[in-house]
Amino acid sequence: MLKPNANYGNLKESYLFYHIAQKTRAYLEEHPGAHLYRMGIGDVSLPLAPAVIRALHEAVDDQAGKASFHGYMPECGAPFLRETIAGYYQKRGVSLAADEVFVSSGASDELGDLLDLFDRSDRALIMEPAYPAYVDANVMAGREILHLPSGPENQFLPLPDNAPEAELIYLCSPNNPTGAAYNREQLEQWVRRANETGAVILFDAAYEAFIEEDLPHSIFEIPGARTCAVEVCSLSKTAGFTGTRLGYTVIPKDLERGGLNLNAMWVRNRTTKTNGVSYILQKGGAAVFTEEGQKQVRENIRVYKENARVLMEALDEAGIRYWGGRNAPYIWMACPAGMGSWEFFDLLLNQIQVVGTPGEGFGACGKGFFRFSTFGDPADTREAADSLLKLLKK
Ligand code: PLP
Repeated sequence: MLKPNANYGNLKESYLFYHIAQKTRAYLEEHPGAHLYRMGIGDVSLPLAPAVIRALHEAVDDQAGKASFHGYMPECGAPFLRETIAGYYQKRGVSLAADEVFVSSGASDELGDLLDLFDRSDRALIMEPAYPAYVDANVMAGREILHLPSGPENQFLPLPDNAPEAELIYLCSPNNPTGAAYNREQLEQWVRRANETGAVILFDAAYEAFIEEDLPHSIFEIPGARTCAVEVCSLSKTAGFTGTRLGYTVIPKDLERGGLNLNAMWVRNRTTKTNGVSYILQKGGAAVFTEEGQKQVRENIRVYKENARVLMEALDEAGIRYWGGRNAPYIWMACPAGMGSWEFFDLLLNQIQVVGTPGEGFGACGKGFFRFSTFGDPADTREAADSLLKLLKK
């Protein structure tokens, strides 16, 4: 008889989003037609940039002509897009060869697939609160997980000093859910730790485009990272590709462990396990990095940042402590008056029809905190912020 992967039995029920959906549905059944302010989910609300749409249309037309048609694309990504992304890094002083950049169909897929490169016995250290997929992908692989909790005492930016040793280190900066972002000196500490212990850092840069302070956008801005880090990034939040799907991963050729080269291993993996990302999407993705595309995606990010500003203003006025909002599309607040995350969730839903995300869904240390996404509609966000202020000042 076939033996299924028994590790799936160790997964915790995805209680968080199921429970949010259930509570929201129950509220709507009791209050038919009520308008909900949905600030829970990290999905974008603005459409793709016009430069991207034009490139997608042109690529569809290419597929209609015999001379311009493309069949299978190179498994690791089209050279035109790999070069374009390397050029994007170069603008921040990071030199990458085009074949150190791998085109992916999104960061989530990649964060799961990359685990193929590592032995089951490698322990995964995960900074928490965290994007839930880090934990679950490692549980599925049967890997031991070491939780690295953070809190207000370290501004939700844990450092290696107090961290147990592990072979795989997950860092997400700017962070989902806390919005906290590491500075250079802090990332230098992590790079030093990884090089000293032979660990590999999996650096999730999905929100790099939201950074407005003088902070690193990439782990490869840190000297020494080429020998200890892999970076995963995505156009989902940068350019509204959540439903279109495109991302990229950087694996430097200097990254070797146990006599094996991780860049070469990933080439072998991709050429075996994928047939590449569609030509049409890669053309659309390349348009993000043109001067026109950058201007347009930055305009969308500006709208989300204005949402964040409106919410932060309300929280400031209410005297609530919060993190994030400046370098990330998330605001992470301490629940008022020692309330639990779910208690606060119920209060917001029932009193002001705002749906956010209870912090404990991102790890045990998220208890007593609450996440707002700032990807919503600006008018909705303004109304929600007004109601939130009134409620919190009561
Ligand atoms: N990494 C982080 C930290 C995220 O918050 C998300 C999505 O919310 C992802 C990765 C997944 O991105 P993608 O849409 O490219 O799969």
